[in-house]
Amino acid sequence: MAKYVYDFAEGNKDLKDLLGGKGANLAEMTNLGLPVPAGFTITTEACQRFLAEGSHVDGLDDEIDRHLAALESAMGRRLGDAADPLLVSVRSGAKFSMPGMMETVLNVGLNDESVAGLSRQAGGNDRFAWDSYRRLIQMFGKTVCDVPGEEFEDALHKAKQAKGVRDDVQLDSDDLKSLVAAYKKVFSKHVGHEFPQDPRQQLDQAVEAVFRSWNADRAVLYRRQERIPADLGTAVNVVAMVFGNLGPDSGTGVAFTRDPATGESGIYGDYLQNAQGEDVVAGIRNTLPLADLEKIDKKSYDELLQIMATLEGHYHDLCDIEFTIERGKLWMLQTRVGKRTAAAAFTIAAQLVEEGMIDLDEAVTRVSGAQLAQLMFPRFDLSGDPTALTRGVGASPGAAYGEVVFTSAQAVALAGEGRSVILVRRETNPDDLPGMIAAQGILTARGGKTSHAAVVARGMGKTCVCGADQVEVGRDQFTVHGQVVHEGDVISIDGTTGRVYLGEVPVRPSEVVQYFEGDLDPALANEPLVAAVHQLMTHADERARLRVRTNADTGPDAARARRFGAQGIGLCRTEHMFLGDRRELVERLILAHNKTERDDALAALQPLQRADFLEIFREMNGLPVTVRLIDPPLHEFLPSLEELAVQVAVAKERGSSGEEAERDERMLAAVRRMHESNPMLGLRGVRLGLVIPGLFGMQVRAIAEAAVALAAEGGRPKPEIMVPLVGAVQELETVRHEAERIIAEVVGDSGVEVLIGTMIEVPRAALTAGQIAEAAEFFSFGTNDLTQMAWGFSRDDVEGAFFWRYLELGIFGISPFESIDRDGVGRLVRIAGEEGRATRPGLKLGVCGEHGGDPESVHFFHEVGLDYVSCSPFRVPIARLEAGRAAVESAGSDHR
Ligand code: ADP
Ligand code: MG
Ligand code: MG
Repeated sequence: MAKYVYDFAEGNKDLKDLLGGKGANLAEMTNLGLPVPAGFTITTEACQRFLAEGSHVDGLDDEIDRHLAALESAMGRRLGDAADPLLVSVRSGAKFSMPGMMETVLNVGLNDESVAGLSRQAGGNDRFAWDSYRRLIQMFGKTVCDVPGEEFEDALHKAKQAKGVRDDVQLDSDDLKSLVAAYKKVFSKHVGHEFPQDPRQQLDQAVEAVFRSWNADRAVLYRRQERIPADLGTAVNVVAMVFGNLGPDSGTGVAFTRDPATGESGIYGDYLQNAQGEDVVAGIRNTLPLADLEKIDKKSYDELLQIMATLEGHYHDLCDIEFTIERGKLWMLQTRVGKRTAAAAFTIAAQLVEEGMIDLDEAVTRVSGAQLAQLMFPRFDLSGDPTALTRGVGASPGAAYGEVVFTSAQAVALAGEGRSVILVRRETNPDDLPGMIAAQGILTARGGKTSHAAVVARGMGKTCVCGADQVEVGRDQFTVHGQVVHEGDVISIDGTTGRVYLGEVPVRPSEVVQYFEGDLDPALANEPLVAAVHQLMTHADERARLRVRTNADTGPDAARARRFGAQGIGLCRTEHMFLGDRRELVERLILAHNKTERDDALAALQPLQRADFLEIFREMNGLPVTVRLIDPPLHEFLPSLEELAVQVAVAKERGSSGEEAERDERMLAAVRRMHESNPMLGLRGVRLGLVIPGLFGMQVRAIAEAAVALAAEGGRPKPEIMVPLVGAVQELETVRHEAERIIAEVVGDSGVEVLIGTMIEVPRAALTAGQIAEAAEFFSFGTNDLTQMAWGFSRDDVEGAFFWRYLELGIFGISPFESIDRDGVGRLVRIAGEEGRATRPGLKLGVCGEHGGDPESVHFFHEVGLDYVSCSPFRVPIARLEAGRAAVESAGSDHR
């Protein structure tokens, strides 16, 4: 049978799965010989069993009996004994720290009789005993029996009022005795029976309440946000009570071994004299800085500092601790590797390397891409204390300000004049994309973290606040509680906190981005943070096996990504080269009556494309550039069906004729002809290339000519042509056949080499990768489409419609568009990689699509042996860091 209970002496810090973080670390401190009150831990497995069975766990009682007996004999006292009671705390503690999310009950074992015994133990301190008793009834009532906390607070408030005092400490033992009576009434009124007097019954009920608190609403919410699995359960720690509320020579506090905000070493913490643990955290009374303890109790202070040094030396990391001093005797109640800000994470890792506590490999595992991302966003300078207008969900971090606009077209127009705008919409849809790109930031009234606005903004690294539900969006103004904000008014939005401010809040750029950009103010070069980022990034690059490329469609994007450390372009989209004033050429192409008209349109487009490619190749000189042939359905370049239909009808009504009317009619016919009910599954990608003669050929020629032009300038172009949406090798072979002919013609003996490969984004392509590899020199996984097609849902439709429900039900823990679905989509990637390489050893494998910049996914792509990931320029450093971490971690697990 499973062992459900461990004495502190039986555990250690590596048993977090079983004992939870708190229990494992209490055990570790016990084994280090530090002063920890005796106790035992009930395992997470017991909790899992309890939650699964809904009640009683077989055998658990007996085990608790045995460990309690051992605890009693170690302490020389019996739980709740009338004359000389042992009291215990019953504390939650899961594998991952979930601060304040679950429950703890202190002073278990007190009842109407043992309260007198406790007073005697404390040298006749009645006040202390009754204070402890009222705390037990309050915590037990709230936590175990769901009594509304306000009822107890009201009673306490009344007691203070009756006495005419402000502070709890001013209540004497008689006041507290009456308060206990009042609390008991509150208890029996709500629960339907008296407060339990049997100590063992108190203990059992408290243990079960801690088990149940695992599924409390706030705990569930916290887990979802922090991506903590729902089935881990919590351990329960039963710890002999020590008392910080025995007078001025007692107290309780928290401390950090380094500053969790900046990482600097020093003495950080708070101390509260004559108080029990929960008072510090609850912030009821004003605490003293930890350094003041030196004056109050030098012996305990010195011992504490020594213990903190021991803990750092042992854990090789920042630790935070909880301690209590009972009449001049120091007790350790908790330690853990402390949470810290992103900046502190980098600084501390570098410091620990310098202090020789950890090596660089270990240091890169101590920081994460998510933390680096935080450091890269610009921030508001809030020193002027601006008041927020309203608040929504911080959906995509950053700080942005600009003039309010309400339509995508307006955003594009004003941004075109060099003005900075915030696009405000009730919610966004794919039509808003141009405006979202043009805007500095996006504010929506509806939708959460998986709404269209949120997802798209995150993908672009654009600041976004969504779901600001107090915002009423009108046509040319929005209101918040009656306050009107007009089009053209300036607002500032903070994508981290979700706060929205009226007016322009000053922004300061992140020094980390300045460092990557290479234009760091020299005065900042020696900042510990910048130095740490430099050191850890350098090491990550050295260790990484996976290369990091970027998705970039323009020269400036390419240049920026290169400064951010991109080792090439993994996805250069060509769609935008058909937009703007070139739209007219595309329309000519689509409306062409015959081959001559079509060829003319293509011939006009070709030099424009060549110039675009040349600019990008120049910026990426010497590095590979993967150009994707045109992918979206052509009707995306045409006017909308509704608008055109109206226009033509009106013209007919008026009897207008002439060239323009005729053109409109032809256009309408074309739009009707090309209308698709499922455009994502329609005429796009390679299908276009096979249906519209000369289209792909024109693009291939432009690419090859641009490469030859760069070579003629003395550059080293490395173009790669990528065919989208291939599902069958025959499609690729057909395109390849024509492309090779054109390339041979253009390249001649210039020495330029052009690779031809394909995207793997249709499930059939993944499953026939062995055949497709015959015609492909590389694969690039288009995981956005692959995810849509593997799951059979269209991203634009589902994220707003039902993802929230799927996340709530835990069907997935995180959107499969954000982080790769390892089991399904990931399996397709694995199969395609293996079978592709079986056909063509050395086949180059990469991934483009948002997953390339997602930390979790980067680790997966490392594991399955891809050669590179490609992501937006802004995410390149993040992917570099994660690629390094993935290499270090997999090397580490090989050793084991
Ligand atoms: P949390 O996880 O919310 O910090 P804890 O289980 O650590 O909850 O307990 C809450 C407070 O009670 C802490 O301040 C802790 O120090 C204090 N506490 C817990 N157990 C004991 C004990 N045996 N004696 C004295 N104080 C305790
Ligand atoms: Mg704690
Ligand atoms: Mg695609």
